Amino acid sequence: MDRYRMKVNQILEKDNFSKDEIVLLLGTEGDEKILLFKKSAAVKEKHIGKKVWFRGLIEFSNVCGKDCLYCGIRKGNKNLKRYNLSDEEILAAAKFAYDNRYGSIALQSGELESQLVTSRIENLLYRIKELSDGKLGITLSVGEQKPEVYKKWFDAGAHRYLLRVESTNRDLYRKIHPYNKKHDFDRRLECLKNLQEIGYQTGTGVMIGLPFQTIEDLAGDLLFMNDFNVDMCGMGPYIEHADTPLTEYSGNLLPLRERFDLTLKMIAILRIMMKDINIVAATALQAIDPVGREKAVKIGANILMPNITPGKYRDSYKLYDNKPCTDESAEDCQSCLEARVSLADAEVVYGEWGDSKHYDKRRKDEGRI
Ligand code: SAH
Ligand code: SF4
Repeated sequence: MDRYRMKVNQILEKDNFSKDEIVLLLGTEGDEKILLFKKSAAVKEKHIGKKVWFRGLIEFSNVCGKDCLYCGIRKGNKNLKRYNLSDEEILAAAKFAYDNRYGSIALQSGELESQLVTSRIENLLYRIKELSDGKLGITLSVGEQKPEVYKKWFDAGAHRYLLRVESTNRDLYRKIHPYNKKHDFDRRLECLKNLQEIGYQTGTGVMIGLPFQTIEDLAGDLLFMNDFNVDMCGMGPYIEHADTPLTEYSGNLLPLRERFDLTLKMIAILRIMMKDINIVAATALQAIDPVGREKAVKIGANILMPNITPGKYRDSYKLYDNKPCTDESAEDCQSCLEARVSLADAEVVYGEWGDSKHYDKRRKDEGRI
């Protein structure tokens, strides 16, 4: 065996990696990459099983008050029809998820901070709990909010929150956002801390293959997730959107295929580091590879987010170009995903929340339960 392979093997024997070791693993190709994926698949099987849980994704509004430079629904994009689902449409989508025995839903939208939004979401949470007899798990992903707002929503029944940190390199964060108080890295971190303290299963994640991003940045992102003790992670490739300022740098990006590959390696390494967290197979993977999400499930991801947004709105929630499945209905989405999951040698678990096991362990360690 050559020295490089021996080194990769040696690193994979451990589960606590240094930054240099992560950089080395992110650079693996060919046989060494296969070793990494074999290891992460085995870790998943041992700690999670060959299972996948659904979070029915309801993209309930593309109205956003922010201007993240990468995002297709940023406030400054005028080439876009804005929509906001009615409460009835949201409740009908939640009911669909419940009737089809999805364990959970995820409510996602652009970011708005207002009294109106706070009470609307609070009210919807109570009503979703009511229509599902308290049985539907609810993830929120509606951006940065004040701690008292997070608390209100937690008390109303949301128990998971997904807030991607986008990049943990402060300088890079600054380059991909406007430089103002609304897009402040420290507030992002503070929000994550607040969510964790309130008691949410807290998820974060990053985009992979951003302009200016280095392999060292990505290694730092994984170390951050470990240090921060996240319960869930959703990370995916960065994909340009033609109507955003960041497309200016398209010429300097890694090819899509490499961004895809790097994302799989990020998932695999994180699975080895954090064995019992929930990891999402991001939809953006499928924008690059038709079986991208299935590949992620095979090597470590255990959560899929079938889109159950009413079909007519899907085209308008384009965070990036080439977003898949924007012309399907919720039913199509489910049967398609189910077939896909079995191709990945995994099985969809119905009627269960599929909570992050890491959360219980963390709360015990913190002496909270
Ligand atoms: N407004 C909320 C949730 C919706 S955006 C928030 O920002 O937290 C959800 C995620 O979409 C973002 O966290 C970001 O990581 C991802 N996203 C946005 N634009 C993207 C792009 N061009 N390519 C890939 N992912 C993108
Ligand atoms: Fe708005 Fe989220 Fe897009 Fe930023 S990433 S512009 S907050 S929807």
